[in-house]
Amino acid sequence: MADTHKPVRIGVYPGTFDPITLGHLDIIRRGAHLVDRLVVGVTTNPAKEPMFTVAERLEMVKREIADVPGDVTVVDFNSLLMDFAEREGASLILRGLRAVADFEYEYQMAGMNQQLNDRIETVFLMADVSLQPIASRLVKEIARYGGAIDKFVTPAVARDVARHLAQAS
Ligand code: ADP
Repeated sequence: MADTHKPVRIGVYPGTFDPITLGHLDIIRRGAHLVDRLVVGVTTNPAKEPMFTVAERLEMVKREIADVPGDVTVVDFNSLLMDFAEREGASLILRGLRAVADFEYEYQMAGMNQQLNDRIETVFLMADVSLQPIASRLVKEIARYGGAIDKFVTPAVARDVARHLAQAS
C-alpha cells in the first residue's frame, strides 16, 4: 500500500521588519504558496537599533498578514537563524532579493548558514519589479523628513510610523 503520509514542508522567513513593507508582504504571500507552513521570524537583534520594539513589530506583522492565504504564523527569535529554523522544523529559509547589493550579503550568509546546517536550504525570491526599491531603512528615512510613505507600506503601518515619530519628537 502506498505511503500516504506526506511530510509537512515548513519554511521560515526571517527579518527585522522595522517596519514591515509591501515588499516583505509580497515575499510572504508568494512564499506561503511554496510551503505547507510559513513561519515569519521577527529578529530581536538589538544591534540593528530598530525604530519599533520586538513586541510592536510582532503585533504589526501579525496584523498585516491576517488576510494572507495559507498557514502563516509569526514568532520572534533571538538565536542563530539555523537554530531557529531547526527548532521550527523548517527545511527551507526564505529570503527576498532586491538588488546586487542584497545579493552579496545574502550569498555570503547563505554560504555560511549552509556550513552550519546543510539540511536546510536557503531559497531566494526575486523582489517584485514594482516593489524592488522598497527598504525599511529608506521608509524610515523618508518619514523622518516628512515624506509620504504610503506607496511603500500599508496605511496602518504608515500610521504606526507617524505615531512613533510624533511621540519621539
Ligand atoms: P534583515 O535585517 O534580515 O535584512 P529585513 O526586514 O530588512 O531584515 O529583510 C528581510 C528579508 O526581506 C530580506 O531577505 C530582504 O532582502 C527581504 N526584503 C526586504 N525588502 C524587500 C523588498 N522590497 N522586496 C523583496 N524582498 C525584500
